[in-house]
Amino acid sequence: MGASPSAATGCCNCSTCFVVTLTALAVPIETALYELLGVSPTATEDEIKKAYRKKAREHHPNPDDPEAGQRFQEMAAAYEILSSVETREAYDRYGMDGMSGGGAGGGFGPGMDPADIFAELFGQTNFGFDFGGPGSRGPRRTKGQDSNIPYEVTLEDLYNGKTVKMNMEKEIVCGACKGSGAKGSAKPKQCVKCEGKGWTMVTTAMGGSRLGTHRAMCTECEGRGEKLREKDRCKKCKGNKTVKEKTRQEIYIERGMADRQRIVLAGAGDEEPGIPPGDVIFTLKTKPHESFERSGADLLTTVHITLSEALLGFSRILLTHLDGRGVHVTSPKGKIIKPGDSIILRGEGMPHYKTPDHKGNLYVMLEIDMPEESWLKTIDPQALEAILPPKKAEMEPKPAVVDEVPFEASDIADVRETPFPAGSNFFDHPSGFQFGEGDEGDWEDDEDDEDGEPECRPQ
Ligand SMILES: [Zn+2]
Ligand SMILES: [Zn+2]
Repeated sequence: MGASPSAATGCCNCSTCFVVTLTALAVPIETALYELLGVSPTATEDEIKKAYRKKAREHHPNPDDPEAGQRFQEMAAAYEILSSVETREAYDRYGMDGMSGGGAGGGFGPGMDPADIFAELFGQTNFGFDFGGPGSRGPRRTKGQDSNIPYEVTLEDLYNGKTVKMNMEKEIVCGACKGSGAKGSAKPKQCVKCEGKGWTMVTTAMGGSRLGTHRAMCTECEGRGEKLREKDRCKKCKGNKTVKEKTRQEIYIERGMADRQRIVLAGAGDEEPGIPPGDVIFTLKTKPHESFERSGADLLTTVHITLSEALLGFSRILLTHLDGRGVHVTSPKGKIIKPGDSIILRGEGMPHYKTPDHKGNLYVMLEIDMPEESWLKTIDPQALEAILPPKKAEMEPKPAVVDEVPFEASDIADVRETPFPAGSNFFDHPSGFQFGEGDEGDWEDDEDDEDGEPECRPQ
């Protein structure tokens, strides 16, 4: 549980190693309440409500079965927390610690204790949910906390697969005291402050100007009701029951894994006495690639060809693939490549996860680079004109009035950025404001003419 700030730093000069300190991030740090209701931590409000109703029917309090009553109360309490956006968020961020009064950014009002909420809920004085009862903190967990670690990968990693070795630091049960936290056979003594109850009465503002007296977890014993005296504590773990240990883990990034895919190292997480350790969960995050974009198993890239290649065809290595292979393509004889043309290289996309010999497709946008102007000086323009298709003929019939307007180059990027009084940019909003009523339809027609072209941003 020793969640410390996340760190991913090089442990050595080797590029595949990095050090991770187990920590909880934006993903829920605890999932016990979700487990109680039998829903995933990503469940919607509706799913939580349905799951609770179903569970409540199964475990409705029954005088003959006190355990059912206990389970019902636990579920009701879990539902109470997860059904409100505010408390659910606090729980996801801070776990049960976020549920106790004054906890780091706790989700309840100042000093508001979950025990109060349960008391309100059930109109009873004992803690239905095992809060602050001696020897417990939060709901009983069935396993240790999971550690969620985002891990950045390149598209190359996902294409080729990769083994990553990491040095991690995690909590393990203290070997000296076997997790008791005590020196020798020393036993914890009843907490003086709360007299063993685990809670104390406090008076706080309950929102608005209302003052309320209610229970708060005892800060002296952290709700345990008992406490080891300083001199009785285990020397090695200082009474914490666990100590930090450095371990080395290996994860394998399989070919074709998806962005945001999770790699779970079961049982590799922090240990706590008496329950199995949590998992370490790596969530892959793909770094943007400078030449390829990925969509599922397909890839998209842009290749520049010359004007002569566009007119006369090409037979060359068009690109270097994610595994370093050159990809050689020959265009068909007699084919002229036009601006906006693209080709599909079948089977050159991403490997499919688990069946990496099957691959998606690679779409290549062909961008035609016109020659530099200096090239014109090296050739005979008349000879070129004789070879090229004819220029456009004079407009027929010629308009009655023809004005000579100077040619001035402009940058289309600037035009796109130019704000117009209509409150948007030139091409974003081809509305009547700039071109007069009725023009909009024409613009839409223009766009329709281009349909079927994959979207691409050539570099
Ligand atoms: Zn110890
Ligand atoms: Zn106490």
